[in-house]
Amino acid sequence: MDQVFAPWRIEWVEREGGNDDVDGCVFCAFADGDLAEDRDRRVVARSARSFVLLNNYPYNPGHVMVIPHAHTGDYRDLDDEALLDHARLKQRTFDALDDGIGPDAYNAGLNLGGGAAGGSIDDHLHTHVVPRWEGDTNFMPVVSDTQVIVEAVDETYDRLRDAFAQQEGATVDGEDEAVVFAE
Ligand SMILES: [Zn+2]
Repeated sequence: MDQVFAPWRIEWVEREGGNDDVDGCVFCAFADGDLAEDRDRRVVARSARSFVLLNNYPYNPGHVMVIPHAHTGDYRDLDDEALLDHARLKQRTFDALDDGIGPDAYNAGLNLGGGAAGGSIDDHLHTHVVPRWEGDTNFMPVVSDTQVIVEAVDETYDRLRDAFAQQEGATVDGEDEAVVFAE
């Protein structure tokens, strides 16, 4: 079975019955959400103007999205403060993935401009960060069973949360809350 390498096609997808309370843009709802729901929603870290969300259907273990709070699909709409905050949270994300998962490499990027780019949530931009390992292109068929993926995502959440929590400036409150960076 040949795999086409297309990590940008894989988006956050609602878990069955998991987000019945969300109207409208799910990323906006998560940005403003109750911190006590972060673990359930797989929000693993938050900065002042961005957050890190695990992809429920990861291309690889540790596949996350770094998402600015601003509801826009146009990267040029982000002001300087939002750009810097988003970039710094990406740096922290690479550190957390290095420490928590230890991949060989990364793909990181945005889908912009609608359906042709391959994304399914076009109106709220988000940077995919996909850890890569040597020879991992046939990974997905190996873990194509949904339950296996869900368990892997839960384990990844704990590993990344622990790694973010070790970073300078991290605040960790409730067991189910994302790690918060005040800056
Ligand atoms: Zn939004």
